[in-house]
Amino acid sequence: MRFEFSKRLENLPPYLFAEIDKAKRYARQEGRDLIDLGVGDPDLPTPGHIIEKLSEAAKDPRNHRYALDQGIPELRRAIAGWYKRRFNVALDPETEILPLIGSKEGIAHMPLAFVNPGDYVLAPDPGYPPYRGSAILSDGQSFSMPLLVENSFLPDFKEIPLKIRKKAKLMFLNYPNNPTAAVANKEFYLKVIDFAFKYNTIIAHDAAYSELSYAGYRPMSFLELEGAKNTGVEFHSLSKTYNMSGWRIGWVCGNAHILSGIARVKSNIDSGIFSAIQIAGIAALTGPEEHIQKMRALYQERRDVLCAGLESIGWKASIPQATFYAWVPLPTGSDSRSFAKLLLEKCDIVAAPGIGFGRYGEGYIRFALTVPKERIAEAVERIKKSL
Ligand SMILES: *Cc1c(COP(=O)(O)O)cnc(C)c1O
Repeated sequence: MRFEFSKRLENLPPYLFAEIDKAKRYARQEGRDLIDLGVGDPDLPTPGHIIEKLSEAAKDPRNHRYALDQGIPELRRAIAGWYKRRFNVALDPETEILPLIGSKEGIAHMPLAFVNPGDYVLAPDPGYPPYRGSAILSDGQSFSMPLLVENSFLPDFKEIPLKIRKKAKLMFLNYPNNPTAAVANKEFYLKVIDFAFKYNTIIAHDAAYSELSYAGYRPMSFLELEGAKNTGVEFHSLSKTYNMSGWRIGWVCGNAHILSGIARVKSNIDSGIFSAIQIAGIAALTGPEEHIQKMRALYQERRDVLCAGLESIGWKASIPQATFYAWVPLPTGSDSRSFAKLLLEKCDIVAAPGIGFGRYGEGYIRFALTVPKERIAEAVERIKKSL
């Protein structure tokens, strides 16, 4: 028998890293010494005090049952406390915070609560693939907002055709940005809020990298601005801040009505986050901060080794102020997939081709700073020798 996939599934864009993944597996099997700068996944371990809290909480039978859909109240209070300390934004733990099984889960489910067939979902291009994927899975129309270097990788709302603006139900944004490493300021967010009010568009700002910034730069929250909470929500993650990507915990916060819609979708899909992980999450958000400072210093060192190295071989890499990515224009040619293949074949280096993040990502390659600086230096040496 043969069963056809749904139209929805057929409409999903192809997974553009498949080719690189296959080549990577093959190279590993051959025993080659790969330097993997491809995936945006922290290489550092979760801090010890968080792991200890998990193991303690895992032993308590009270934590073995279904968790509350909306997250345990202490976690929501810990998130509210963190938000107040970090951004000076007050959130009501009862209605303005919703814990998630990783922020990707909430991003993927959000359009199901708001998008009808024919509605547009505005998504940055290049961008984190789930924005576009979730639009398609909810039978919406995804519309690319190009992030161009001449606009500092911020979308230009004037370029969105009026008829699309009018049907834009939802806009995804993400600063500090993956993959471009761009950052946004107050002036930009004011334009965003303006747009939201004018076209009745929900703003979903993904702030997964809010804590990964360098040289004293501190990204702001979209919710710091007046009116923001009327128009949207902000996604946060423990994955990058606390090296907890495998644990699956994050949250969405802001507009209570929007959160209630996401919560209704979720109540039909999942049954909460393992309570022991929520308790460990509280330990992360209320615990010592030194590890974050150390982590920033470490990524900054890696960033400097990579950027100085690429500059020394004549590549044009601008120095990121935030995220653990370098978004680098291709030094030769314009086909990022072929270039990534070349890096893998000639240098045993894995990097993410820009086209994998959308068609406006073409012409770039993304390096993730998720290996020790000695390995980054080695990667630069290999490029110098072989390309
Ligand atoms: C890593 C990342 C996330 C985090 O996802 P989780 O599901 O919380 O692990 C969210 N958004 C972007 C843009 C990311 O790069």
